[in-house]
Amino acid sequence: MPSKTIFKRIIDKEIPAKILYEDELCLAFADLNPQAPTHLLVIPKKEVKSIADLENDDLALAGHLFLVCRNLASKLGLGNGYRIVTNIGADGGQSVEHLHLHLLGGRSMAWPPG
Ligand code: AMP
Repeated sequence: MPSKTIFKRIIDKEIPAKILYEDELCLAFADLNPQAPTHLLVIPKKEVKSIADLENDDLALAGHLFLVCRNLASKLGLGNGYRIVTNIGADGGQSVEHLHLHLLGGRSMAWPPG
């Protein structure tokens, strides 16, 4: 049995997180090492490694994660703009193998990303 990722342990409430939103499909919580004044992670409760591992049947789930980001951005007053990032695999800089959308806001973002 492969060991649980840190995010699965947050979903299962085995370790604490500052949870801002939860429903039957997903969870949103504060990033432990924030890179912007607002830095949340929005994750599916379903164990999917990354965007690369989504199945065609996950279409509604993938859309749901974006709408939850939209709703949180609105609720948190990010009307001036924000960024949604998802890292995929080693070259993408992914460190936790459970799909997550970074929702970053509260400052002006640079481009290109590093
Ligand atoms: P990534 O590098 O895209 O896989 O992003 C993983 C993110 O998870 C990083 O921004 C970490 O700061 C964050 N992170 C890791 N462990 C935790 C945790 N226990 N609670 C909240 N955020 C975490």
